[in-house]
Amino acid sequence: MAEMTDRAAELDDQDPLAAYRRRFVPPEDDSMVAYLDGNSLGRPTADLPEVMSGFIKQDWGTRLIRSWDEAWLDWPTVVGDELAAAALGAAPGQTYVADQTSVAIYKLARAALSLADPVRDQIVLDVDNFPTDRYLLEGIASELRLEVVWIRSDLGFGIIPDQVRDAVNERTALFLASHASYLSGYVAEAKLITEIVHGAGGLVLWDCCHSVGAVPIQLDEWDADFAVGCSYKYLNGGPGSPAFGYVATRHQDRTRQPLHGWMGHAEPFEMGPEYEPHRGIRGYLTGGPPILGMVPMRQMVSMINEVGIGAIRAKSLALTDFAVGLVDEHLAPLDVQLASPRDHDHRGGHIMITHRDFRMIKDQLWRRGILPDYRQPDGLRLGLSPLSTSFAEVAVAVRAIQALLQR
Ligand SMILES: *Cc1c(COP(=O)(O)O)cnc(C)c1O
Repeated sequence: MAEMTDRAAELDDQDPLAAYRRRFVPPEDDSMVAYLDGNSLGRPTADLPEVMSGFIKQDWGTRLIRSWDEAWLDWPTVVGDELAAAALGAAPGQTYVADQTSVAIYKLARAALSLADPVRDQIVLDVDNFPTDRYLLEGIASELRLEVVWIRSDLGFGIIPDQVRDAVNERTALFLASHASYLSGYVAEAKLITEIVHGAGGLVLWDCCHSVGAVPIQLDEWDADFAVGCSYKYLNGGPGSPAFGYVATRHQDRTRQPLHGWMGHAEPFEMGPEYEPHRGIRGYLTGGPPILGMVPMRQMVSMINEVGIGAIRAKSLALTDFAVGLVDEHLAPLDVQLASPRDHDHRGGHIMITHRDFRMIKDQLWRRGILPDYRQPDGLRLGLSPLSTSFAEVAVAVRAIQALLQR
């Protein structure tokens, strides 16, 4: 036990990014001992109280309506490009920030389908994808009378290129998958899978909610068609912060998103009688941009830019390596199973462990200020946010789980 703590202290000492832990708002009381849910809600950056207060006093409170013209109207694409450069591997002009992920999935899936040949009548996705992705695409399928082809991704912990190869053909209009699985963290071979779907003549929409900010993404290099992701997980944008949408340049102006709002109009302030989409990425906007929710994520995007996504990934792997090692040594003998990839290539920013008693144990952990999350039926997800999580937090959590299972 002491060994676990010593080892964690040693790793924290050697961590080249250790100083960044102080760049997040510390808890105000001792009710948080180990935060392992950064993949559901990232922590606010430490400068945020001041930044938000400045925003409220100056940008909003003093400049008032003038701020729309002076800055805010451009934020969806300005912040989109900042994010694209820091974490998406995307050239400027292809990314916007607005809406929720769910809405972005709807808009971009429909945009993709507006391009597809009408003889292509199938949408392909996997049964383990995040619920909102499945519900939305089933809804679109019934709206447009398409068929959903389900991939059963239970072979490993995620989507295998061979399964995609078997599922796509001349009927495939659109393929949607998560870059990193919200359950196992499994990181898909995005470039190869995109190539396979393109080989069959289909289009690809990548959901990067569980990878953006923790796992490097190369949308341009993958030749992705469309992508979405949220900003409140590893981008620390706060509750309800907006999603990003990516539309490859080659598809802009030839695809149409279905939610025709004034902010996507070529001339929003002409207040004209008919909808005419703005050219380029702005045509994918719908309503007034959620500016307040972009303030926190911009702070995090700038921190990611400062550190570099490569260094962030290295810390993330060091954290999950440590967690996997402790699980093997201390929890596996108590019947805990690792439900996440062991190899680095496929490991995301969090790991999932399973045990029949985890449903009960989760509440006890939360009462002790140890905050992983629980996923049906028997999984605990340990989300290790690279810049804010310490090795000590991992050790404390594993020790607490071990103690609870031994009772
Ligand atoms: C978190 C997450 C979402 C969330 O969708 P919202 O509309 O932002 O609530 C969607 N898809 C995946 C894969 C996620 O991990």
